[in-house]
Formats: sequence, structure tokens, C-alpha cells
Amino acid sequence: MDGIRREYSVLPKHPQKIDEILKPLILNDETYGKLKEKMRADMNMGLSTDRNQDADTKMYITYVRCVPTGSEKGNYLALDLGGTNFRVLLIKLSPGEEVKMESKIYMVPRDVMTGTGVQLFDHIAGCIESFMIYQNLDKNVAIPLGFTFSFPCKQEGLDKARLVTWTKGFSCSGVVGEDIVELLHAALDRKSIRVKCVAVINDTVGALMSCAHEDKNCHIGLILGTGTNACYLERLTNVHQWDGDDEEPREVVINTEWGAFGNGSALDFICTEYDANVDNLSINPGRQIYEKMISGMYMGEIARQVIMKLVDAGCLFNGVASQALATSMSFRTKYISEIESDEEFDNFVRTRQVLDELHIRDYRLADCLVIQEVCQVVSTRAAYLAAAGISVLLDAVTQPEVTIAVDGSLYRYHPKFHDLITEKVAELSPNKVFKLMLSSDGSGKGAALVAAVAWTRSQAKEE
Ligand code: ADP
Ligand code: MG
Repeated sequence: MDGIRREYSVLPKHPQKIDEILKPLILNDETYGKLKEKMRADMNMGLSTDRNQDADTKMYITYVRCVPTGSEKGNYLALDLGGTNFRVLLIKLSPGEEVKMESKIYMVPRDVMTGTGVQLFDHIAGCIESFMIYQNLDKNVAIPLGFTFSFPCKQEGLDKARLVTWTKGFSCSGVVGEDIVELLHAALDRKSIRVKCVAVINDTVGALMSCAHEDKNCHIGLILGTGTNACYLERLTNVHQWDGDDEEPREVVINTEWGAFGNGSALDFICTEYDANVDNLSINPGRQIYEKMISGMYMGEIARQVIMKLVDAGCLFNGVASQALATSMSFRTKYISEIESDEEFDNFVRTRQVLDELHIRDYRLADCLVIQEVCQVVSTRAAYLAAAGISVLLDAVTQPEVTIAVDGSLYRYHPKFHDLITEKVAELSPNKVFKLMLSSDGSGKGAALVAAVAWTRSQAKEE
């Protein structure tokens, strides 16, 4: 990366000053190695019983005990709440065939998001009812349902999850501390619908299950979207808080909630002034520090912080920023993908378009070069930080070949994220064979697969 801009005939002003401003974001392998050690220690703490409360990464037990085998069959419903849209899905599984899915997006009105829990779950049950009518499903037949509920939950079983706190604009009363499955079942009862929620999962588990259905080596699930999080299959002997049965397979999926890493002081050694500014601007200062260095919600703002510093130092736009650029959160993470998609010498079409959207009219070719370098430095650090986390999880997984399921728009749309992560994981875990696999619709298909495995197990036990 170093020196890219010097291949051009147009040199930016004050190259040394630019290097100085970018330098804190360029980390060497020794630093990534140190980060790995800290993260590993924190995760071990999270897995322990006595030190869990001191850990940043809470390592929640998901009660998902195995990945799908591909032999799952039947019709399942799934709910996806807490992502960008609320959806109800019907998933048809048959061995050896492609998964068939039908889904419908429903609105959650603002007054329901902030009303009572009863209103929310009645609304959800109403959407399930209308979806079942639309799909010609008999409401007197017990259909198993998997629930992707992407809010922090403490699980007590696969079908028992207590909400820890609402996020993302929801604030329904009477739900925090309650089992959301009970609340859903009560609402379904009020409408005499015999649907049975057999599993609650989050989006990382959904991604993992969805890919594992096609690739049995898939033992790690990763989200790189608005936020970042990961889950992996851990041996029960390492899960000191395990309170379930000891039956085979003696493994369970752990939801690391790794976005919270750095809530203590573990990331202070790499935290830059740009990160500190982003954190101060956020609605949850001091929390989700690792997430704020990596994920889509914040990456654009990190880049903007750097760009503003360069403007103030006279290294960009003749020292003058547009009002749009000077406004926090105006530099969207998708701009980074667009700017980095500009090939060398193609006249910076996309970069120019972004600058245009930000009302920057007066710039030189050298400015485009510098902006592109800023984006590269910020996204490379994000990808490498995620790679360090993956490398920690790879060391924890015992099998020789591991597939990592990845979901989220940042991974999906950034032109280099996949390659950057792959390259750095290979360096940090030289003895592992791995690959990253894009997960499609984990929150729907994944939830149905967990429901299928749980349902099949419970039916087998009853017989
Ligand atoms: P969610 O995480 O809410 O389920 P997504 O996986 O779609 O949703 O992630 C949304 C995030 O992805 C947004 O916060 C945005 O920052 C980021 N994003 C959207 N489009 C792009 C893009 N083209 N390149 C990089 N990041 C993107
Ligand atoms: Mg998502």
C-alpha cells in the first residue's frame, strides 16, 4: 500500500504530513499478534464461570449443539426481527434438494416499536396469521418455527431467551428480563394459532447454520454489516458455564458478542484519535469498541475523521471542507466501497461522484488519490482486525479444515474485504486450512434449519 500514490505523476501536497496522519491506522503483524493474545485471554475469561463478569466478550451459550447434516426435511416457519426488516418466512427442506423459501416483509409501526410488549407480540402473531393465510397453511397444524431475534439475549435453552436490553429503536415495555418465546406463544394462543417456536437464534448463528447446510466444514459464523459479531462451535469441556446435557455431540455454538471487545482497556494500545472521536459521537460511548473499528455503521465516519484532519493540515482540498463533509456521519461506508472500486487510471469516476455528493467542487487529481488512500488504510485495518478475531476462533476449532460463513453488506459489497481478510488470516494462522463463504439469508434459512434439527430431535425423543 505504501507508495501507491507516488506512482502517479500528480503528487499530493505534503506527502510526509499525510503519512504522519495515516500512520496510527497502519498496524504491523506484531500488533495483530498481540491483539490476538488479548482477545484469546478475554474470550477464555468469558467462557469461565467466575470471571465472566469481567470479560468484554460474554461468550453466550446458544444451545445450538450441532450443525445441520443436510438430511433435514419438512416445512418450517421463521421470523426475522431486529435486522433491517421484519420478515416472516416459510422454508421447505428436503434432503439433497435446494432449500425453498417464501417470505414477506411486514412493517413494525413506530408506535408498536415503542409501545407495550403485548402490542408487539400481538402484531407479530397477526403477521404470522396473515402470512399463513397467504401461504394456505392450516392454523390448526403445529408448524415448528425458528426465531432470529437480533437483540442481546441471555439464553436458558434453545427455546428460552430472556431479553437483556432493547436496541435499534425498540423500547416495548414489559419485555426486558422476560422470555420472548413465552411472550410469542401467549400472543399466538390469543389467535388460536398452533405454531410452535422451537428455537431462538441470532444472525451469526443463522449465517453459520445456513452455510453448514451446504458445507459440513463450516464451524464459524461471522457478521460484517451494521455491526460485527461471530460465533463458533466450541467443545463443552471449555464451556464452564454449560448447564445442559452432556450427550454427543459434546459441542455447543458460542455467540462471542465480540463487538464488545475493548469495552475495558484491551484495545487502548491501538486506539487512535479518530476512533476516540467516533466513540464520543456514538450513542453508546465506551462500548462496542472493536465493533466501532470494524463495522459498517462506523467505518465511513472513521474515514471522515481522517479526511477532516488532512483538510485541516492543508493536505486536501486546499484546506477547505464542504459543509456536508464537515458534518458527522456524512461519509457513508458505502462510499468507501465505491471509491476503492475505482481502478487505477480510470479517471476516478466513482470517487468524483462521491465528492460531488458531498458538494466538494474544487479538487485536484491528487486529492482523489489521497481520498482513495485514506479509504484503503481504514478498510484494511478493519479487515485485518476482523482477521485477527477469526484467527483466534480458528485456533479454538479442532478440525483441520474450516469454512467461515460470512454475512453482512460490508463484506458483501466492499471490493477487497474478502481478499484482505483471507490474506491476513493466512498470515496469522499459517497452519490452518480455511475459506470464507458468503452466507445468503442466514436469518431465514438458518433459523429454519435450527428449528428443523431441534424439532427432529424432540420428535425422536417422544417416540
Ligand atoms: P444488518 O447488519 O442491519 O443486518 P446489512 O448486513 O445490510 O444489515 O448491513 C448494513 C450496513 O452495511 C450499513 O450500516 C452500511 O454501513 C453497510 N453497507 C451498506 N452498503 C454497503 C456497501 N456498498 N459497502 C460497504 N458497506 C455497506
Ligand atoms: Mg443482517
